[in-house]
Amino acid sequence: MARPFRRWLHNAMPLLAAIGIGAVVVWQAASLGRSGAMTSATAHGFQRLRLYSSTIVNALERYSYLPFMLAHDGKVRALLADQTDPVRLRAVDEWLEGANAAAGSTALYIENLEGTAIAASNWREPDTYVGHRYEFRPFFKDAISTGGGRWFGVGVTTRIPGYFLARAVLDGDSPQGVAIVKVDLEQLQREWASGGEKVMVTDIHNIAILTSQPDWKYAVLGTLDAEARATLDATQQYADVPLRSVKVIQSRDIEKDVHILTLETDGRRRSYLVQSAAIPGESWTIHYLTDMNDILAGSRNAAIIAAFGWIIVLLLLLFLRQRFLRIVAQAKARDEVAEALRTARDELELTVAKRTADLQAEIEERLRTERELRDAQTELVHAGKMAALGQMSATVAHELSQPLTAVQTYLASARVFAQRGDLGQVFRNLGLIDDLNQRMGHIASHLKTFSRKGGSRREPVLLAEVAKRAMMLVEARAKSEKAIIVCDIPPDACILGDGIRLEQVIVNLFGNALDAVKACQVKRLSMTAEASEGTWVIKVADNGPGIAPEHVEHVFDPFFTTKEVGEGLGIGLSLSESIIRDIGGSMRAENAPGGGAVFVITLPEHSPAPAPGGGSHG
Ligand code: ADP
Repeated sequence: MARPFRRWLHNAMPLLAAIGIGAVVVWQAASLGRSGAMTSATAHGFQRLRLYSSTIVNALERYSYLPFMLAHDGKVRALLADQTDPVRLRAVDEWLEGANAAAGSTALYIENLEGTAIAASNWREPDTYVGHRYEFRPFFKDAISTGGGRWFGVGVTTRIPGYFLARAVLDGDSPQGVAIVKVDLEQLQREWASGGEKVMVTDIHNIAILTSQPDWKYAVLGTLDAEARATLDATQQYADVPLRSVKVIQSRDIEKDVHILTLETDGRRRSYLVQSAAIPGESWTIHYLTDMNDILAGSRNAAIIAAFGWIIVLLLLLFLRQRFLRIVAQAKARDEVAEALRTARDELELTVAKRTADLQAEIEERLRTERELRDAQTELVHAGKMAALGQMSATVAHELSQPLTAVQTYLASARVFAQRGDLGQVFRNLGLIDDLNQRMGHIASHLKTFSRKGGSRREPVLLAEVAKRAMMLVEARAKSEKAIIVCDIPPDACILGDGIRLEQVIVNLFGNALDAVKACQVKRLSMTAEASEGTWVIKVADNGPGIAPEHVEHVFDPFFTTKEVGEGLGIGLSLSESIIRDIGGSMRAENAPGGGAVFVITLPEHSPAPAPGGGSHG
């Protein structure tokens, strides 16, 4: 077997099994339904058969006394004795007419020994029996020979079917004539038809003589043999009524008196469950027919119900299977999620461990780099210091070599003037040497500032005090140069720092400002302080030419100066900036919009401000 087919078979197996079981269930239900329907139809049929059979017997028995009564009546006997007396004839006719109406029979009549009707209840009617001969009728013959007869047949005169009950009118033992009652049984079959049931009474030749189905009336079940035909012709039992044949296609015995017959009438086939019973006292058989379609409908309904039931069971099974599969899938999904979470957690732990190791390595690397950087910086600082020292040495040597050479020259020439006795020149030279000395002292004082490290003292310092003392230090120079210094410092302006070093800074700024306004006609210097966002902003300004834009960035660089040799060393601002930074502030240089330079110092505010004079500034 090819593999795909085997796989298909494996997949389709449950479906095939469901279809197979369903088919068995439906088939079983159908056969159960069918046998159930058959059983109940059979029980019902027999019950109806008994009922109808007794109805027929009763209907006939009701009239059985009538011929007997007629046969014993004196008028009848007298008439048979003298059949020509018209008065007697009329009297009997009228009597029969009255008795017939009272009994509800179809007709009452008297026949003489030839079988001619001499008196009848229908004597007034055009198709009266009176005058007709009926000696060929079996009941007549039976009555003459045995004293009584009964027979079913169609009237040759009236064409009306009826049941004939006959009784011989006896004079001693010899028959004089026959008294007959004709009974109509058509009413019975009308009642059956109105009940919607299929009932049929057949005679000895299988001819339907009474039936609830009008189209079966006088139909022959099967075929008539020649003997039967001859008998019928002789007795004119069904007069000239045409006898149709109902073809029996199939006959199956189920049990005694129960068959399934398939009949064909007018080209149509139909199957019936036929139950039969002999009618007591007659040569007739009564049949009760149930359409097999009705029985099969029951089995069909059972099969449909079973099919639906099976579909519902299947759907239920499918639903349960789906539910089961879903639960299994959910459990599987949960396991998978848990597994995925476990894997993710393991991976995360691994990643974290790896990252931690990497970070540690990185930190170690950074620490090593920092260490190396620090070492490099130390080396750089050292190199910078050496370079600065070299530059400073060169500057100092340069600054001092000129005055020293000049001092040597003036001393040599003073010696010459002293030998000559020119004291005036000697004093002039001494004065020049003094000037040079002062200049060298000035240079030394600048260098001293470098060495004077104030340390990082932190104490409350009032800015007004600092300004006041700085002013005092530059007062003499300002006065000699006719410069005005304006100070506007709030008395509570207080910072935390080193008062003396801050004073050095302000004195240096004033000094630079005085240098800058040297060429100005009006020389104005100012110092202000303003509070701003937890800081004090101190501004030292002048009305000099300001700082050239290209120099603004460099004025704080060490040894940056625009002044002539001997005028400046270029270290004042660099020093001032480092002092301010030391006490936690910052410093910048800018030009005022109206001209002149402005140096802006920002220092953190200190509060509460100490009482005036409480600051320590030596
Ligand atoms: P020095 O005064 O010895 O030059 P500083 O560091 O004090 O050194 O000053 C550096 C330079 O900054 C000065 O040479 C000058 O060019 C400039 N400078 C400083 N103050 C002023 C000012 N008030 N106006 C204009 N330029 C200034």
